[in-house]
Amino acid sequence: MAWRGPPGCRAPHASRKLKGTCVSVRQTGDMKLTAPTRRLVGWLPSGMLDWPGRLSSTVFLGGCDFRCPFCHNEALVSVPDVPAEWSSLITHLEAKRNWLDGVVITGGEPTVDPGLPEMLRTFTEMGIPVKLDTNGNHPDVLKPLLAEGLISYVALDLKTPFSRYASLTGVAESSARVAESVEIIIDSGIAHEFRTTVYPGAVTLEDLEEMARTIEGGDRYALQQFVPTTTLDPRASAVLPYHPDALHESAARCSRFLPTIVRGA
Ligand code: SF4
Repeated sequence: MAWRGPPGCRAPHASRKLKGTCVSVRQTGDMKLTAPTRRLVGWLPSGMLDWPGRLSSTVFLGGCDFRCPFCHNEALVSVPDVPAEWSSLITHLEAKRNWLDGVVITGGEPTVDPGLPEMLRTFTEMGIPVKLDTNGNHPDVLKPLLAEGLISYVALDLKTPFSRYASLTGVAESSARVAESVEIIIDSGIAHEFRTTVYPGAVTLEDLEEMARTIEGGDRYALQQFVPTTTLDPRASAVLPYHPDALHESAARCSRFLPTIVRGA
């Protein structure tokens, strides 16, 4: 199983294979081997892309409440009919924990998974740091997880200016919830980044400066180049990305509010 992996949608690259397709969950006396989720789509054994600077495994959870037109992760937007084998993931992490720097939990949207807190506790008990990728639409889930010390790094995707969130994502009130998550993350003191896939259908270059202002005080802002490949809304794949120079110029302007980098351009 493989997906196109754009900057910004937290998907594996097409060349990177996901492991695990079996449904069975081994019942043993070891609670770590009891699956906390039925949304495990698959996992990557190791890589440096999903948590820059760290060698990490990446866990993909299916299901998302947003419907971003530029989403490259159609296979991860829905809950899988047949979850991957949790015990295989745990066996891998047990075997490699001395050389892995962490686990990245991504999707889809991990915070819609009722099994997420238990999953995080399992990794924490194993001594494995966790990076969480989120769309920010569930501050009520995020806040207690951060307070419990279950997350070492958070990456929140900022999709568009708050004034256009509902029309882009298809979710009413999402702007207020994402804004609350931004505040929670900045106030938490936990390492983090905000990032935007700069899809011209959702974000103008002028918008980026406005968006940077709303996350002022954050650790870092990453502008990720839009890649017009397969998208949730097929019309999005016909949209041309901005010129790389324009992105770098925008990043320089955004840096007035917080450190800003460009990825993929
Ligand atoms: S938040 Fe948007 S881009 Fe990310 S998985 Fe959900 S629909 Fe796709």
